[in-house]
Amino acid sequence: MQFRENISLKPFNSFGIAVNASHFASFQSLEELEELLAISDAENKPPFILGGGSNILLTEDLDQWVLKNEMKGIEKIKEDDDFVYLKAGAGENWHGFVMECVKNNWGGVENLSLIPGNVGASPMQNIGAYGVEIKDAFVELEAFHRTERQLVRFNLKDCDFGYRESVFKQRYKDQFVLLNVTYRLRKQPIFNTSYGAIEEELRRMGVESLSIAAISQAVINIRTSKLPDPTIIGNAGSFFKNHEVEQGKFLSLKKDFPAVLGYPMADGKVKLAAGWMIEQCGWKGFRRGDAGCHERQALVLVNYGRATGEEIFALSEEILQSVSKKFDVTLQREVNII
Ligand SMILES: Cc1cc2nc3c(=O)[nH]c(=O)nc-3n(C[C@H](O)[C@H](O)[C@H](O)COP(=O)(O)OP(=O)(O)OC[C@H]3O[C@@H](n4cnc5c(N)ncnc54)[C@H](O)[C@@H]3O)c2cc1C
Repeated sequence: MQFRENISLKPFNSFGIAVNASHFASFQSLEELEELLAISDAENKPPFILGGGSNILLTEDLDQWVLKNEMKGIEKIKEDDDFVYLKAGAGENWHGFVMECVKNNWGGVENLSLIPGNVGASPMQNIGAYGVEIKDAFVELEAFHRTERQLVRFNLKDCDFGYRESVFKQRYKDQFVLLNVTYRLRKQPIFNTSYGAIEEELRRMGVESLSIAAISQAVINIRTSKLPDPTIIGNAGSFFKNHEVEQGKFLSLKKDFPAVLGYPMADGKVKLAAGWMIEQCGWKGFRRGDAGCHERQALVLVNYGRATGEEIFALSEEILQSVSKKFDVTLQREVNII
């Protein structure tokens, strides 16, 4: 284990925010984690668990232990006629895990190609894209309770997954360190191409016979053309969640704003496109100093270089207020504010 003091977290967050951590260490095993938790306890500095740093906005220096999860390994733990069960360490890169599945023609996560971050954070907000969420392939995870020092298993039901939600963001917030996640992949894949521009992209690619690899590549192409690359422009993907409203609210919005975009959901509610509302409030392409709202994706807030976390947070607050004023809808942030 390497211990570091007063280090810049700029390379450790996709927004590229330059704040410092007073103490920093990474761990590769449960034993190392336990050791670090004991140290942070003794110093009365509650730890912050860091994955790939692609879903956080750091707004101040952290006078605490930042513990980076680097528990690696992808293991096939079970196989039957229909499925393969893969257990992946929390510190594995998510896209690397997806590529391992694609390479073996195991289906279920190909639509989630190129989502930044690590496997350990994938259940935190039930990551999703192009009509698929991890809950669709999730089996279980192992987590370590930070204060009770206990290993706990969570199955699908225990995690209470919702749209960008899980128990780990709500009831058990900051209580567990996720150690590994088991996913169930299909040997006879069911292709899901109905969402977004996947079919169009497959046509453009000239794909005649559908495959896991082709869908993954189509998703990669679309994402690369649409989303800003965090290594060039700092960002954390969608800053806000799309917003779910009752049918009645949607109809009244539709009366005032006929072009309002909403997707009907299974429970009868309607999911409003937050990006459209933000755009209608005039924020798309807005820039103040180095903080801005991306020119092609209004949902994505960006750091053009030296923006502080506070500046980006302040911009997000202004956006929230203007959407609330215009549409009487209170958006929620998807990114974790630290
Ligand atoms: C360009 C871009 C595109 C994106 N697109 C999508 C998308 O399509 N869909 C989507 O859902 N998300 C998307 N995201 C958001 C992000 O990639 C995911 O939320 C990802 O799962 C975050 O992983 P991470 O390892 O970087 O987490 P981090 O940012 O490091 O952490 C996020 C939160 O989880 C906690 N955490 C992390 N690891 C652990 C652990 N092992 N145990 C306990 N707590 C932990 C942290 O404390 C923090 O609160 C995008 C981000 C970017 C930059």
